[in-house]
Amino acid sequence: MKLEDISYIGNKTRYILRENNIWTPYDLVMNFPKSYENYNIINFNEAKHNQVITIIGEILKIEHFKAKVHVIKLLIKVEEFQVSALIFNQQFLLKSLKLNDEVLIKGKYNLYSNEISVSSISKNLNKKEITPIYGIEGVTDYMISKAIEDIFTNNKIKIYETFPNDVMRRFNIINRYDAIKNLHFPKSITDLNKSIKRLKYEEAIELQLRLQKSLLNRTKREPIDYDISKVKDFIESLSFELTEDQKEVVNEIYRDFKKDYQTKRLIQGDVGSGKTIVAIIAMLGVLTAGKQAVLMVPTEILANQQYETIKKLLSNYNVSLLTSKVKNKTQILNDLETGKIDVLVGTHSVASENVLFNDLGLIIIDEQHKFGVELRESLFKKSESANLIYLTATPIPRTLGIAMFGDLATSEIKSRPKFQKPVITKHFEENKLDLIIEEIKNTVSKEEHVFVVVPAISSELKDYNIENTADILRPIFKEKLFILHGDISSEDRNKIIEDFSNSIGGVLLATSMIEVGIDLKSATLMVVLAAENFGLSQLHQLRGRVGRGEKESKFYTLSNKEDVERLKILEKVDSGFKLSEYDLKLRGPGEFLGLKQSGILKTKYLDFSTDYDILLEARKLSIEIINNQELLKNRDYYYINRILNEG
Ligand code: ADP
Ligand code: MG
Repeated sequence: MKLEDISYIGNKTRYILRENNIWTPYDLVMNFPKSYENYNIINFNEAKHNQVITIIGEILKIEHFKAKVHVIKLLIKVEEFQVSALIFNQQFLLKSLKLNDEVLIKGKYNLYSNEISVSSISKNLNKKEITPIYGIEGVTDYMISKAIEDIFTNNKIKIYETFPNDVMRRFNIINRYDAIKNLHFPKSITDLNKSIKRLKYEEAIELQLRLQKSLLNRTKREPIDYDISKVKDFIESLSFELTEDQKEVVNEIYRDFKKDYQTKRLIQGDVGSGKTIVAIIAMLGVLTAGKQAVLMVPTEILANQQYETIKKLLSNYNVSLLTSKVKNKTQILNDLETGKIDVLVGTHSVASENVLFNDLGLIIIDEQHKFGVELRESLFKKSESANLIYLTATPIPRTLGIAMFGDLATSEIKSRPKFQKPVITKHFEENKLDLIIEEIKNTVSKEEHVFVVVPAISSELKDYNIENTADILRPIFKEKLFILHGDISSEDRNKIIEDFSNSIGGVLLATSMIEVGIDLKSATLMVVLAAENFGLSQLHQLRGRVGRGEKESKFYTLSNKEDVERLKILEKVDSGFKLSEYDLKLRGPGEFLGLKQSGILKTKYLDFSTDYDILLEARKLSIEIINNQELLKNRDYYYINRILNEG
């Protein structure tokens, strides 16, 4: 069957449809409405002022004139009343509107002038309560509906079922034929919701099947033969006791070691929750088994810090630092390959092609969301069997986690080890900068430290950037102003941070690069300018840079009017987990994990901020199917089988 064989589709329409990548009747049916218009025809005498109403009436008079815009003014008889209908800038309608025509009109009603401002007008009076909108330029929705109706009533295509009956029963979802038909001709919102539910399950199950499939290819390896007494001694020797959450995560990691396959685990914990020590205890496990460990962190500064910490704590082992700056690179690479180095700490340099390990047992990626997918992949490739641990303070909302990683286990460190005073958070509108500058002056005069964060180095698009903010701050703070951003070389960066930390009261003007790795107890105020440019999770991370000492700390955001509500959330919410859920709702999945690079989350119906339960069910089903190969021999499972066997 070709498009030519469908009623209502002439040559011109066919051409337009092709432009929209619709080549066959099947394509046309699979081109689901982009949205729906809800027509609710009411009794005209019940219409209220400013209400959007739909009426059917007869055209008694047609006028048109040009005011600021082109206006068609119709006089409409509806029931025993008369009302004017104003159509703006659609003079082409004049050709089709005739006296005595009956029309269906939707628009906002002005009771006082007795006029409707028309948002849509149609001669098709049978528009259902819910009308699909296809939004294909040059072809009316009505025509598309008619063509699709022809396809369905005359059985011009076949729609195959993709789910087995037991799956549809289990989730109480309608069959594929009905679901698709309802999408085009919904009789009620309930009908429409049933279709949408079916499509959400389709997307969720496909997604989960693909993810769970990776479990089948999980690399087998010998369990890691760690020395538990050494590990226990080490934990005993620490100057503090692990929190309950930390203990639990350590146990989870050690259970992973015992498995006979490679594992991946995501450890989520707010800033300051103590992820590093957990990572070090994990490293120690593989070291006692005679294997190597690598830790990749996003910045030079952080690499140096972590290196120092780890070297101190794992003093019986050979710990090395690798960044683009280190001098004795050849020696390090050599020692890694021969196994002389036990732990390698570094920036993305550790993922370079020429870095080879002797026997790598554990890969840890700190602040993993800072790395792109490719970089993470190239680090995995260093070993066929090493366990993998991601650390993150930007929690992945649970829905995304389950959607993203089939085989990724997650751990959470919820409590913080030390009593940290909550940081007083306040949002200001842009015109309050003067007030904030006073506060900065105050703080500096108390010999405390202030961060001022801006979204860009220099950009015309951003209201505040390093350049123009420096112009404001320098005359006030003079040599007490320090500036840090990505264009400054990393040696200079370290020097600037050091000078700022050693200054007696100072202001560090920086881009968001300071969100990790600066630990300064005397930093008591952070101001984020043009905060509308940052995600809530990111702002929360930034907030973690203050409130590290005994003194009360403050976190101020400044933004334009439009973003007040979102930023106010930070005043009330102090949980990175909650904030990431907000981010997901407000800004979509792109915020997380460099997901922009990953096509996997391009779903049409499945909503990652709300459909957690569906994803969970889909995952459960997928695991069952994969573990029951007998099922797949069933003809009903043909389509599912096909997904599992795709490349
Ligand atoms: P993050 O999770 O942000 O990476 P860190 O691992 O840097 O946090 O830990 C923050 C601070 O808390 C460090 O100084 C660390 O030594 C300390 N710390 C970690 N665990 C505990 C604990 N159980 N009790 C007390 N202090 C701890
Ligand atoms: Mg950390």
